[in-house]
Amino acid sequence: MDTVHEPLKHYTRATAGHLASLPLWKKLRDRRLSTTEEQYHLYMLEIELTNRLNRTLFLAADRKISLQPYCLKDQSVSCKAKKKGRDYQCTGCSMQCFQHAASQILKEYHIEPYIWMGGSISKTAIAARNENKSLGIIGIACVPELVWGMRKCAKYGIPVVGIPLNANRCIRWWGEFHPNSIDQDELQDLLNS
Ligand code: SF4
Repeated sequence: MDTVHEPLKHYTRATAGHLASLPLWKKLRDRRLSTTEEQYHLYMLEIELTNRLNRTLFLAADRKISLQPYCLKDQSVSCKAKKKGRDYQCTGCSMQCFQHAASQILKEYHIEPYIWMGGSISKTAIAARNENKSLGIIGIACVPELVWGMRKCAKYGIPVVGIPLNANRCIRWWGEFHPNSIDQDELQDLLNS
């Protein structure tokens, strides 16, 4: 923990203040809101190690999909994403939108981008198996959600990789939505063979 604290503390310095201001009922209702700084650092390590472990298998999968959080969209426009199954796909209505930017990069690597609104990872895995296709998933989410999703994919034997959001800025953390972003260079680096 001492080794990782120094390089990672820059990303988690608001954690103590957040935990101190979190009412008990919120802690009880949504455990991920109570993630401690030490847990964040371990999660960040887990994401990096999982990426190293799965990257080659993910890139080689027959079908590759991304699951992106709705909080990544441009909050200043009326989103024109289209429903596909239980999830949505970006139609590129805003050039300032990080959802759009990420989707464009993902498509270059033959990855189907989805804004995740509750589609089932298990059903997607079973459908791919029935079609005799291997499935790979790339997740984009805040650190605690990403780790949760990566562990769920691992349960179904899906090679999963992921990119954390630059911050936790959705309604669960703030009580309202704030614009969010991802590091597009990190995404490119992860996908470049
Ligand atoms: S660019 Fe895509 S995700 Fe962003 S607001 Fe438009 S349709 Fe929605």
